[in-house]
Amino acid sequence: MTTKWADIFAPVMAQGREVREGQAILGQAIIDAIEKKTSLTAQAGTGTGKSFASLIPLIHQILKSKKNKKPYRAIVSTETLALQAQLIDKDLPFLAKLYPGFSYRKLMGRSNYLCFEVARTAAVADLYMNGIVEKLKLRQTSIMTGEKQEIEKILGRDLTAEQWSKIASSSQFCPDNMCSAEKCYSTRARDQAKGADLVVVNHAILAVDIEMKAGDVLADGMLGQFEALVVDEGHQLEPAFVKAWTKEVTERELESMAGSLADGIELAKQIKSNQQIGKIVNDALDDLRDVLANTKKYYMLLGEKAGQEWHGSQTSLSLKYPLGRPSGPLAYAMEEFEVENPQRLLRAEAALEEAIKYLFPVVVKAMEDKMKGIRKLRKGYTAASSLLENVRIISKAFETKDGIISQYGTYGANVEGYVGFMDKKPYMKITLTPLDVSARAQQLWGKEGGQTNILLSATLTDLTDGTFRYARECIAFPAGAEVDVNSPFDSREQQLVYVTPANRKDRFDTEQYSFSELLDLINASRGRALILFTSRKELDRAAEQIQMMKDMGHFPYKLLVQTKDADKRRLKDEFESDVSSVLLATKSFFVGIDIPGESLSLLAIVKWPNERYDSLCKQMIIHWRMMGFPRWYERISLTLFQQAAGRLIRSMGCKGVVALLDYRANDSESNVFKTAKMGVNTLQSRVTQDIAAVKAFLQ
Ligand code: SF4
Repeated sequence: MTTKWADIFAPVMAQGREVREGQAILGQAIIDAIEKKTSLTAQAGTGTGKSFASLIPLIHQILKSKKNKKPYRAIVSTETLALQAQLIDKDLPFLAKLYPGFSYRKLMGRSNYLCFEVARTAAVADLYMNGIVEKLKLRQTSIMTGEKQEIEKILGRDLTAEQWSKIASSSQFCPDNMCSAEKCYSTRARDQAKGADLVVVNHAILAVDIEMKAGDVLADGMLGQFEALVVDEGHQLEPAFVKAWTKEVTERELESMAGSLADGIELAKQIKSNQQIGKIVNDALDDLRDVLANTKKYYMLLGEKAGQEWHGSQTSLSLKYPLGRPSGPLAYAMEEFEVENPQRLLRAEAALEEAIKYLFPVVVKAMEDKMKGIRKLRKGYTAASSLLENVRIISKAFETKDGIISQYGTYGANVEGYVGFMDKKPYMKITLTPLDVSARAQQLWGKEGGQTNILLSATLTDLTDGTFRYARECIAFPAGAEVDVNSPFDSREQQLVYVTPANRKDRFDTEQYSFSELLDLINASRGRALILFTSRKELDRAAEQIQMMKDMGHFPYKLLVQTKDADKRRLKDEFESDVSSVLLATKSFFVGIDIPGESLSLLAIVKWPNERYDSLCKQMIIHWRMMGFPRWYERISLTLFQQAAGRLIRSMGCKGVVALLDYRANDSESNVFKTAKMGVNTLQSRVTQDIAAVKAFLQ
């Protein structure tokens, strides 16, 4: 007999929680998917209560399976650490009291855990960090999780993102995971997660799990086996996978790895002699240098052909650059690129495999015997593994031609006005970006009829065609039931939308918005404003101008600015607690931020959020057009706009104004006019171009 939502929700209701119609529909659909072991695509507007609608059926199923002595594990994935924290610190402890008998854990990426190996390196180079590391060493036995919050508590001070990165692990530093679980917080967290009934992760972890299971590095991957997977903020899974599987190879890093490998080999030869290995490695490094030199020459010539000035930090070219019929030096470079480079790469790959085979037992023995020079040896081994991975990335990039090739650094003395920069030559960067992650994502969903999959979000509909088609196809999500639940909020009553009039001319030529208009709006809402910028440059400029006004006593509200190093959680808390504050933030505040109440009365989006139209974006557009999605570019900005606007009304008591500051949104001649209009219409609210109306609404 099918389980009823009302029955399993009863313990929560007994705590005085209201029954929400949308939540009940969603909860029942999730129960059905769990019991039938099928997949469900579910869109549920803000305020539906998505977390409880998915967690309660999962917990119910876990407890039922325990009674029947059958294993049942569930994974819940969200996009941001903030959402993960909300589930782990608030929702699950609350539910664990009402539905006792299940265990839950959180698992994050490696860079979220302390690593004493990294910390020791930081301590050598930096006196301040040395103090921190010494204190942590003294308290080592009391460190339980190694997470940033715990470490800050132990230290009694906050750490900036930069300081944290100096003591936290990373996949670059530690691709081999050689330390034991007693020593490694990240491995410990992973082991504990594998033993839990319900695990909360973020999307990046799902990407790692797929890679590990596919590569058979570890048959049960990062997460172990599971019976149900809920992907919350499901529309973010594709970009998260693209990001996770984007690989970058930079010339500078390769140079440094080559140096470490050569040093490591020299030392290893003293421990285990090998006549050949030095030459094998040197030849491989020469091959690699030749590949880089030729590739750089080839793309420089291509860049010139495309009319690009191939020097400067912004230059990039698609690997799919259409060639035509080359002649002269370009033809020679192309031949070397297409014929000789693959052979060089194959040779380098084989040689590096050989070097790894030789180094591994030497490193293990040196570790066991606690020999001198172990750090250098281990660095050499890590460099060999990373170089091998990089060689494979380059080969793959050249083969699939997904991604871009770009330059960074400057020509130094060769370029007027750039003299004095640290880099005296242009470096090359090869970025391999998967245009389509669906084939790999498919592995996540298990066998048909064996695993329950729930794709959940407030914004799954592709507004350009009104369907869930893109949301599913871009990640190969299995077909199954669909449910679409509206937000319980009354957007006509609770929200007003302001759009810049096309004739608002008091702006800089390079900007699409007017700074004085922004100030008028902030004054109309008496602070209480979150200003979301799509460009860091514009944010910095606005912050500077407001700070100047504040210094002169012309800005009476507290100003909060999301600097590059800012702790997002702390900034959000400060904004929430000071009702008259104004927070200037970047795109990372477009999702996963929940600020109910008066503090957020004006949400201003500065500029229509178009994706950057660069070489990569152009490749994406072409790819998705071929796959039957001709309006991919518009779809991206519409989803982003909807997400950002969705930050405003978070509860029945919220009331406020969403402002789109972009004169183009009302200019029928502009190329964003139609898309912006469509975006504004989806908010289903009254629209005004009058700041007086904003003021009246917020009184
Ligand atoms: S395995 Fe060792 S080096 Fe790698 S993250 Fe863990 S503690 Fe650090």
